[in-house]
Amino acid sequence: MSSISPKQALDIRVVLLDADGVMTDGGLYVFADQDCETEGRRFHVHDGLAIHMLRRADLEVAIVSGKVSMSVRKRAEALGILEIHQVSPFGKLEAVDHILRRAGATWDQAAFLADDLADLPVLREVGLPAAVANAVPEVKETAVWVGDVCGGAGAVREFSEALLRARGEWSSLVEAYVAECFEHWRSKESE
Ligand SMILES: [Mg+2]
Repeated sequence: MSSISPKQALDIRVVLLDADGVMTDGGLYVFADQDCETEGRRFHVHDGLAIHMLRRADLEVAIVSGKVSMSVRKRAEALGILEIHQVSPFGKLEAVDHILRRAGATWDQAAFLADDLADLPVLREVGLPAAVANAVPEVKETAVWVGDVCGGAGAVREFSEALLRARGEWSSLVEAYVAECFEHWRSKESE
């Protein structure tokens, strides 16, 4: 696994995630039943807590997908991600520009975890370009961080943990999370 320097990590304010092939394994379940959503996806539960930790560290998290999908939208909403941009692959630069302007952040302050060629233009612009283990060669060559985990298998978790560890925040975030669970339990007990 490559590593992220503390300086690079501390500069980051926005974490951008591609959806298909990063939050998922890239597989699409296509249903014939017209009453069903026509495409289904499988997400990894470990990524959910990672996104929670990023947000606890006051980092903005946004999804930039080159495909319109209700399953990605539902998963994002369940995780509390407010910025979900589902555009054509040609629209990713514009979508990220919009996200960064709204966040008051620069391109240098953004990380992007990606897997395929549609992500290359954005990867070339952000401060911390990152790739999942099974990203295409061009994406891996552009990335300064390449994970050991494939898309859909907890790759967002791996990257988030690496970023937060490089910022020196991971352990304290985990401890704060555990303490909050105990606090919640005690408050219920005293009710
Ligand atoms: Mg992708």
